[in-house]
Amino acid sequence: MPQRALITGAAGFLGSHLADRLLAEGFAVLGVDNFSTGSPANLAHLASEPRFAFEERDICQLFESDSFDPGSFDPGPVDFVFNLASPASPPEYLRLALETLSVGSRGTENALAIAHKYNASFLHASTSECYGDPLVHPQPESYWGNVNPVGPRSVYDEAKRFAESLTMAWHRYRGVNTHLVRIFNTYGPRLHPSDGRVISNFIMQALRNQPLTVYGDGQQTRSFCYVADLIDGIFRLALSREHLPVNIGNPGEFTILECAQAVLEVTGSSSTLTYAPLPQDDPTRRQPDITRARTILGWEPKISLREGLALSLDFFRSQL
Ligand code: NAD
Ligand code: UDP
Repeated sequence: MPQRALITGAAGFLGSHLADRLLAEGFAVLGVDNFSTGSPANLAHLASEPRFAFEERDICQLFESDSFDPGSFDPGPVDFVFNLASPASPPEYLRLALETLSVGSRGTENALAIAHKYNASFLHASTSECYGDPLVHPQPESYWGNVNPVGPRSVYDEAKRFAESLTMAWHRYRGVNTHLVRIFNTYGPRLHPSDGRVISNFIMQALRNQPLTVYGDGQQTRSFCYVADLIDGIFRLALSREHLPVNIGNPGEFTILECAQAVLEVTGSSSTLTYAPLPQDDPTRRQPDITRARTILGWEPKISLREGLALSLDFFRSQL
């Protein structure tokens, strides 16, 4: 019998790549998604895969079998639960603000309850947003962060911080074998071409010969990880005995202007730049300290920003 994994958020960018990796490793996979920001197209290539099954569902609804709740659903025995369901791009989590808070709290608790019921390992997709606008640079996992708890981004940041707390509590008080990955900006094929994240915006604008929209003065930094590297880190963490958060990201740090330049080079586009206001509480810098991932998981990223952008181009061209 193959090991069986439940992935919440399976129809999203990262969830669909994780499904591919787990299937390649011999797992059976049950994907759950409500398509709020994901798409059936991300899973279309698995339609005839006998080890893959899919359930359209909001994970904020109860999972447990309950004869009084006709909407309830029990996935059956699973060995792993990967909790990736959540809007992830700033425009999407601002549009789905209350849903983002719900999926980080109620939805994550439902997913933890499934892991507990079936004695499964649980991995939660957390984020570098837990560090907010960081005062420590680069960010080690021991840094507690600098988050505005009532600003517009708080619906995402605080949902993710609450989900980390919830996950640690289910580990400490219910004995679930939990894992927390703090994901730094990740990009690649299947990143939604219009969900507003910087890499997809810039590549689509470059391919259309439209100006690249730089928010603020473009001096803020991000560290961009190619999806295959990220998924490898997540897979290693899920098999580990590590319960405290682990940063997974590429330590290469770029200003947004440098990112725009890289996109122009890789696409060969002659697009110009245009400037727009910086969103409120947009972090000024981001760079993962990956010492723990290197030490505990033997993991480090292999793909540079320019290589990863080149690997992503065919997908974004197909979306034009
Ligand atoms: P995505 O929007 O492509 O995928 C998220 C998926 O979750 C979507 O398919 C969406 O429909 C689904 N979903 C949302 N709410 C749901 C609910 N209540 N019930 C069922 N499904 C629901 O985003 P992504 O980039 O693939 O992100 C996946 C996870 O990784 C998210 O939790 C995100 O916060 C985290 N993360 C991603 C990044 C990144 O750079 N991509 C960085 C940090 C953290
Ligand atoms: N950004 C930008 N132009 C865009 C989209 C984003 O300059 O078209 C900036 C954004 O303000 C932020 C950075 O790029 O400083 C990364 O944004 P993204 O939404 O990808 O992720 P974040 O790290 O902010 O969650």
